[in-house]
Amino acid sequence: MKILVLNSGSSSLKYKLFDMTDRSEKASGLVERIGMSGVNGRLVHKVPGQDPYYVEQPMPDHKAALRLVLDSLMDGDRGVLSSLDEIAAVGHRILHGKDAFKQSSIIDNEALEKLKSFMEFGPLHMPANIMGIESCMQLMEGIPQVGVFDTAFHQTMPKKAFLYAIPYELYEEHGIRRYGFHGTSHRYVSMRAAEMLGKPLADLKMITMHLGNGSSAAAIKGGKVVDTSMGFTPLEGFVMGTRCGDIDPAVVPCLQQKLGLTSQEIDTFMNRKCGLLGISGVSSDMRDIQRAIEEGNQRAKDAYDVFIYRLIKYVGAYFAAMGGLDVLVFTAGIGENDHLVRQHVCEGLEALGVKIDIVKNAGLRAKEAVLSTPESKVQILLVPTNEELMIATDAYELVKDIS
Ligand code: AMP
Repeated sequence: MKILVLNSGSSSLKYKLFDMTDRSEKASGLVERIGMSGVNGRLVHKVPGQDPYYVEQPMPDHKAALRLVLDSLMDGDRGVLSSLDEIAAVGHRILHGKDAFKQSSIIDNEALEKLKSFMEFGPLHMPANIMGIESCMQLMEGIPQVGVFDTAFHQTMPKKAFLYAIPYELYEEHGIRRYGFHGTSHRYVSMRAAEMLGKPLADLKMITMHLGNGSSAAAIKGGKVVDTSMGFTPLEGFVMGTRCGDIDPAVVPCLQQKLGLTSQEIDTFMNRKCGLLGISGVSSDMRDIQRAIEEGNQRAKDAYDVFIYRLIKYVGAYFAAMGGLDVLVFTAGIGENDHLVRQHVCEGLEALGVKIDIVKNAGLRAKEAVLSTPESKVQILLVPTNEELMIATDAYELVKDIS
């Protein structure tokens, strides 16, 4: 049984095809420059064990991009499918399910209409997510569409963790509350971590640290999220590549006044010009920050220090919120690849009994591993994330009995 996973961005469409009999990846690829005037769209299509395959052609919209993806999957020479009927379902990565979608769900016309009403909760991502689903409904008639939501895993958060201290009516009438994001990644790595340790999730207090361009933590007690660092939008929480993370809200009108920006511009400013990039003036990429630190750049060092300090503070807070900690998991681009970040975070947590094996940690990148020393009170794990496989698994679970 095969599952196609789609991640539709504003001008891109990423895909992966899984064979769920052995959870193997059969093909993957990316279409870029969708809907950009004056330039062709570009597809790169990859099949394990073969050279990548490129196509450049006009790409007016997501439907055209999906048509090219499906043609490539069924291509006589490089294809991996003989017919679309082999696809049992399409799993879509969807940014926001608000409090209506607490878990992955089949998206029929009614669910699609509901999603359209959430557009303002993700103005950058939701329109593209919806276009991806609509294109599939048109080109893959009869094949179930499954929505997997970045927010869903965090829906177990109690009110005390998700309410902002603003008038309650704003939560009731406008849905202004904390939602959290990266839920599919947090769920995947928490499940893998429990499997790696051979313990039931129900018995574990865990903090998962998804550290990439966007970063967030989840406090997971007995398999359920009790708190997470992102909020109403993915701007809250950690220092990120270009996002400021937690900030005094009074800074916003101050900046508006000093920089002469509209509220829309200030939103863009806080999402694109702040974080590691803003403090360092060097880059949003942690590799560049590390290089600049080695070269003696003080602002890069300041950016790194603020980044690490906030990670440590959040772990301390979640330790208190859960009444202890059994497992600390690192994942995503920085968490999987940057041993110094892992080391410095863990060294800042020694008071909690966290002890990392520095030698083992230094030698590891993007591989599942236990990094704690035998005497550490907290198991430290490196778990590469695999959101696509989680999406495929959810879609498979929802359709396996109806196909
Ligand atoms: P992601 O959003 O998960 O793709 O993560 C992207 C981020 O991972 C980049 O901005 C880099 O800062 C970081 N990254 C990737 N590889 C490395 C590496 N080898 N060392 C440090 N950071 C890395």
